[in-house]
Amino acid sequence: MKLIKIDLLKARYHRASNSAKKWRDTYYRNNKWYIFLDGRSAERIWFGLISLGKNPDPDKIDKLIGNSSWTQPNNYYICKNCEKNVEYGVCIKEEISLCDKCIKKCLCIIKRYKK
Ligand SMILES: [Zn+2]
Repeated sequence: MKLIKIDLLKARYHRASNSAKKWRDTYYRNNKWYIFLDGRSAERIWFGLISLGKNPDPDKIDKLIGNSSWTQPNNYYICKNCEKNVEYGVCIKEEISLCDKCIKKCLCIIKRYKK
């Protein structure tokens, strides 16, 4: 058994540091900036991202963009039972990976059985 852990804050800062470049790659095509349906210009947001510097605060990026999809790590640990993204869990024999909540449920089931 081994512990699997994602340093969420570190992962968010890493994603944040790449967000301005990725934003440009996504929304600047054929020498044109994308305009969102609500009228916001992708270029204006890009300038905002650039102004936050090389190691921007992920919360400021979320606020600027309007959601957290650009700073959330997409490779979170996924529990084999509840299939939720969590920061840590336990891997058993490289096959079964469970989060702490599901491990607690397992213990409850065993305790109930033993009574
Ligand atoms: Zn779980």
